[in-house]
Amino acid sequence: MSLLAGVQDVLFPARCLACETLLGRYRLPLLCSDCVSRLVPLVSPLCLCCGMPFAAGEDHLCGNCLAGKSPFDLVRSAFSYQEPLVTLIHQVKFGRRLTGLATLGVLARNSSACSSLSRPDLILPVPLHGRRLRQRGFNQSLLLARSCFPGWKDRIVAAGLCRIRNTIPQTNLSGKERRKNLKGAFCLNVPGGVDGRSILLVDDVLTTGSTVVECSRILQKACAARVEVFTLARAL
Ligand SMILES: [Zn+2]
Ligand SMILES: [Zn+2]
Repeated sequence: MSLLAGVQDVLFPARCLACETLLGRYRLPLLCSDCVSRLVPLVSPLCLCCGMPFAAGEDHLCGNCLAGKSPFDLVRSAFSYQEPLVTLIHQVKFGRRLTGLATLGVLARNSSACSSLSRPDLILPVPLHGRRLRQRGFNQSLLLARSCFPGWKDRIVAAGLCRIRNTIPQTNLSGKERRKNLKGAFCLNVPGGVDGRSILLVDDVLTTGSTVVECSRILQKACAARVEVFTLARAL
């Protein structure tokens, strides 16, 4: 350990980002072993397309994807959206603890979800509307894309997808209402377009999937060759 790191550990001892337990020293991810063990990675058996987890059996297509209703080629989420990940994501999103991003990035990069993705031509973060972006000061999906895919940094198009209509918060809406709420909410603003290119969409949490469905539809209409989606967490 360098002298500087030693001094830092004494002056600013590292704490678990989720439960504040004192950690021996600063090492990513900033989570205690108990919180790491409570993370639920989303692994096989999954739907080969939308990534919906199954209770048992082998990977196969779910009914929806089998019927050809999914506008994307692959969706993969690293973890189930439950504690301690909820706290971690909330700290980054609402508590502005951007130091948590490095931890989320390490967790994502070590996940099997990340290794299932193919190399994209472009990475598009799911956007916030301008007003919400100004309130929050950052788009968490863009920051996540940067910390999860540092090797593909030059492929990230920060404002490739724009939110042109400020939708009401999705939280209390049903699936059908969510889709209606999002209709016409996004537009594409990629220099050179997405025609014939492989796209990776990135978002923090997948809930009903209506946001990524709407964004994927736009990409599909614009003739993207392939659309994959990565989210850090998925609500089950
Ligand atoms: Zn902890
Ligand atoms: Zn599926």
